[in-house]
Amino acid sequence: MMAQYLAIKHAHPDCLLFYRMGDFYELFFDDAVKAAATLDIALTKRGKHLGEDIPMCGVPVRSYEVYLSRLVRAGHKVAIGEQTEDPAEAKKRGAKSVVARDVVRVITAGTLTEDNLLDSRAHNYLAAAAEIGGTIGLAWVDVSTGDFAMQPLAPALLSAALARLSPGELLVPERLLHQPDLLEVWAEWKSILAPLPSVRFDSENSRKRLEALYGVGALDGFGSFGRAELAAGGALVDYIELTQKGKMPRLNPPQRLAQGAVMEIDGATRRNLELAETVNGERKGSLLATIDRTITGAGARLLAARLAAPLTDPAAIGQRLDAVAFFVEHETVRADIRAALKRCPDMERALSRLSLGRGGPRDLAAIRDALAEIPALRAALARPSLDTPPTAIATAAADLGEHSTVVDILTRALAEELPSLARDGGFIRPEFHAGLDELKSLKAEGNSHLMRLERRYAEETGIANLKIRHNNIIGHHIEVAAKQAEKLDESFIHRQTMATTARYTTTELIELAGKLTGAADRALALEQHVFEHLVGDVTTRAAAIAAAAAALATLDVAAALAELAAAEDWIRPEIDDSTAFVIDGGRHPVVEAALRAANSGAFVANDCDLSAGNRLWLITGPNMAGKSTFLRQNAVIVLLAQMGAFVPARAARIGVVDRLFSRVGAADDLARGRSTFMVEMVETAAILNQSGPRALVILDEIGRGTATFDGLSIAWSVVEHLHEVNVCRALFATHYHELTSLAGRLKNLSCRQMRVKEWQGDVVFLHEVAQGAADRSYGIHVGRLAGLPPAVVARAEEVLSALEKGEQGSAVARLADDLPLFAVLAKPKAKEAAGPSPLEEKLKDINPDELNAKQALDLLYELKRLL
Ligand code: ADP
Repeated sequence: MMAQYLAIKHAHPDCLLFYRMGDFYELFFDDAVKAAATLDIALTKRGKHLGEDIPMCGVPVRSYEVYLSRLVRAGHKVAIGEQTEDPAEAKKRGAKSVVARDVVRVITAGTLTEDNLLDSRAHNYLAAAAEIGGTIGLAWVDVSTGDFAMQPLAPALLSAALARLSPGELLVPERLLHQPDLLEVWAEWKSILAPLPSVRFDSENSRKRLEALYGVGALDGFGSFGRAELAAGGALVDYIELTQKGKMPRLNPPQRLAQGAVMEIDGATRRNLELAETVNGERKGSLLATIDRTITGAGARLLAARLAAPLTDPAAIGQRLDAVAFFVEHETVRADIRAALKRCPDMERALSRLSLGRGGPRDLAAIRDALAEIPALRAALARPSLDTPPTAIATAAADLGEHSTVVDILTRALAEELPSLARDGGFIRPEFHAGLDELKSLKAEGNSHLMRLERRYAEETGIANLKIRHNNIIGHHIEVAAKQAEKLDESFIHRQTMATTARYTTTELIELAGKLTGAADRALALEQHVFEHLVGDVTTRAAAIAAAAAALATLDVAAALAELAAAEDWIRPEIDDSTAFVIDGGRHPVVEAALRAANSGAFVANDCDLSAGNRLWLITGPNMAGKSTFLRQNAVIVLLAQMGAFVPARAARIGVVDRLFSRVGAADDLARGRSTFMVEMVETAAILNQSGPRALVILDEIGRGTATFDGLSIAWSVVEHLHEVNVCRALFATHYHELTSLAGRLKNLSCRQMRVKEWQGDVVFLHEVAQGAADRSYGIHVGRLAGLPPAVVARAEEVLSALEKGEQGSAVARLADDLPLFAVLAKPKAKEAAGPSPLEEKLKDINPDELNAKQALDLLYELKRLL
């Protein structure tokens, strides 16, 4: 057995090998050590290899998926080594023969299909990157749904594209790992990187592989793919074949994403705008979670994919908006559609499992139930009173298709209660298959024979509680209490004696049991056969069913966005090819929802106009006044508009944005060992180097990570560069009021401030954006709100007023003489201190020269108590 184990392991050196032994998958050697550590399960040993104990651990087959998901999430690949023959077969070859085993599947993070291993509302992409002649080809596939696409990219855009997909696994040719301009990308995606031999990315082989997969002579019918894209796409298919051991999931025809078809948004911008998750990595509180009103898993996945990849073609955006508008207008249609969608299970994933030969009866039921809703959906969309629906809806309605035959077969075939695995049997409804019914009635008959036999034996032997039982080890047997065994004559053949019972059989029982298990086995085998047939009925119609599933998702998203727009009073944006940017009464959906949840007042809507002559807004105002919120809400509105959603505003006209950048004075990136300021500068550099006239740039307090004059100078020159060189639309929030003097010189620069009101010595934030520049920061005020000690606030006010008097150099020098802070505390003129405090009294009494170290320490504790 060990020889067999080692041979299989040798063929899968990079995987943890799950080696099937009875009801367990066992792991040995280093695999066992690694798995036991990750899973926190007991590490035992079994036998010896080369004189050393063999470490071992195991997981039960019944519940292996939980363990599997933890291992895969921890970055391991797992090879499933199953028994590939009946143990009885092996025995025939000789008593000591080992049951044949082989790896039936390799499970990796990018190739999951099980519902328990996947998030039903998110895609799980397997991606591959290849490079030919300076162009990157990126391909991605969701094995669990069949989505497949390819895209050509400049190397500088790879990182942003990966951020958009957020794949579970990324295949790269080893050759590319050392390419200098990509090192940063690999470092960023290290945890999901799967390097493969470069030969697997051969573009010619890839093309042939893809042509064979789709059974076409040329791929041109799907799009004109470049060599780099094909290389990546072919490597994906190769990898799937390899990990699925030759079984191919159903894949949709590959889509081609042309250069520039979607808005480029890099990872930092996505994190900063909290698109799919918050900065803390939570889904709740993200933009996606706030806008998601979809009902089905497939709808949620499509919505997430659209938000991740807003479009740049006004016509395509317009089509999506038409669909949303249709559902906004027709409220009852929307309600009907959403009610029907509630009854639709996840067809995409069920179909994918069935096509991989890994589906069960419940997957068939999922397909049946979803397809059964189609007539209701079509009827809702085809009401005579409705105007002609817009193209996107009409196309979806047509794609829903006609599936009554399959629905009918599956309805007649499947029983009410279904096991998750086909091999458990018992899922076919009576009267669906005559042969099966016959075998089942034989089985039932056999069972009643058994009961009659049991009654007869009980009477004949006079043992009233004689029972005929069954277990997996000795099969059918007669069981009596041990002390009654002597009542049995020699026709009862002894099998086993337990503590209180004895077990027997008879020739009659053997014969009957033989018939019974024969019928049961044949029934089970026939049921499998019927199952395969039903799967065949579904998979031969896979393309039509997949199209219906996609149409359901499209309808779900359009209706969900309409629901959102209606509930939140959002409007349809106007999108065109200009460089206009006019938003009236814009709001930030996430902040607005948070304010509402906390019951802390209404959100104040604000206008923004970055059209020609006003391209760059410089926004000043104190902290907490709402600068960041205003900046982000404008980015969010653009994203929503270009993904084809209504937007939180009174009106919006937006000339298409091709790249979006959003930066805040950065947070530390400790993982990569860079200082805050370095990160900020690297990111700012990227923006200045990459933004063109169609970009939208949002910079929040850039330059604050360094000394004042350094920071001011950098912020200053960044504004000039954006204005003169990038010529893009931009919002720039800063606390360097000095920058506002640039407005006189840069004709497209316009100054705005966050309004605040001083009232009875206090400051009230109005969250209103107004013309002009803020004259004060109110930073000290915010400090007071935050609970700085009164003495510090008082001192800060003193320093500020000295600085504001103008003669900066000498003022600072004089102030520095005042230090340290204790001097401030001791000053009799400190307003809050009426007479010396106990702390001050105590301090005065101290003579440090008289104290030893222990006393000094005790005194420190005492002083702290007095604080
Ligand atoms: P800043 O960037 O100026 O420090 P923020 O944008 O972080 O300020 O806003 C601080 C807080 O003020 C937000 O968390 C929110 O509660 C509130 N706020 C911001 N903008 C608005 C608004 N337009 N209407 C109502 N409350 C707002």
